[in-house]
Amino acid sequence: MTLARYASDPQRSRGRRYPEQATPHRTEFQRDRDRIVHSTAFRRLVYKTQVFLNHEGDLFRTRLTHSIEVAQLGRSIARALGLCEDLVEAIALAHDLGHTPFGHAGQDALNACMATHGGFEHNLQSLRVVDQLEERYPQFDGLNLTFETREGILKHCSRNHAQALEAREPGGVGHRFLARTQPSLEAQLCNLADEIAYNAHDIDDGVRSGLLTLEQLEQVSLFDGYRRAALAAHPHLVGRRLLYEAIRLMLSAQVHDVIDATAAALREAAPADADAVRHAPPLVAFSAPMRERSDALKQFLFRNLYRHPQVMQTTGQAQQVVQTLFEAYRAQPGEMPAAYAQQADLPRAIADYIAGMTDRFAAREHTRLTGLKLLDA
Ligand code: MG
Repeated sequence: MTLARYASDPQRSRGRRYPEQATPHRTEFQRDRDRIVHSTAFRRLVYKTQVFLNHEGDLFRTRLTHSIEVAQLGRSIARALGLCEDLVEAIALAHDLGHTPFGHAGQDALNACMATHGGFEHNLQSLRVVDQLEERYPQFDGLNLTFETREGILKHCSRNHAQALEAREPGGVGHRFLARTQPSLEAQLCNLADEIAYNAHDIDDGVRSGLLTLEQLEQVSLFDGYRRAALAAHPHLVGRRLLYEAIRLMLSAQVHDVIDATAAALREAAPADADAVRHAPPLVAFSAPMRERSDALKQFLFRNLYRHPQVMQTTGQAQQVVQTLFEAYRAQPGEMPAAYAQQADLPRAIADYIAGMTDRFAAREHTRLTGLKLLDA
């Protein structure tokens, strides 16, 4: 597959923070992808919550299977548009590496604990994992990924954080948040593939958990259109197979929509190369009608699944676990491994340690330190 002129070309990468020799059989973005797959943080994703706590069931998405679904959707779209599939895959597999245990509940609790110490943000933490926290190479901390993969991992960033990044790395990955430019098309694509993936799999997991019903989903026009289409083609389809077929049709339609809308935007903007993309408006997008329907689905999931009383109850317990761990390590840093306990910036070291935990490790640590059992793990 040849790359389109506006794709990120691994041979024209802005390179790594610590220069390395090229290898004969892999491109720079393939090497990034491979480093991510072999990282410790990547393996932990299998025991980290997406929406349902890890121990609530074996078939729900975890951060790992979510990331693989994002990579699959991203690669399909990238291939159709002539974008760099390897870069898309690297960004997709790394995009959630900085997530705390217990999903957004964990992140909110950790951010509250860090309020007077610079805060905690999972996106920035994903970058911190690949830049600093992974310990695998003799010559440097982190994975020493290319600029393009790091740019894609840093999806959002506040002005304050961008200024701090810019001070450490002038013209680096924080720069675009100050200059208000766009990231590569591959990075833009991962963002949208993330949304497509979680909207679809959260319907599936929501129904599997019993918190959502197929009848309730009839209010969501995007989903209901494909449920009807599935029934028109297979009138006897019921239950799980009907759900799967409707989700499958919805995913295909969204993928085709992004490909068509983005191809049209690229024709119109006609960026000369990957750098011109950074100075153009955002180009990877749904069509306007699909954007509206996707937003309506998101709102439905927010109201009916993410804010479901049963989800909220476990959310409260998870927040308590994170908060208690933070306070316990502050009072007794020696309860953490020495490498964390000896750091000069203790609150940041505690945040790094907690953020790296899997759900079940965090729950066990909480039990070890308090004697209480808030979450089964
Ligand atoms: Mg994600």
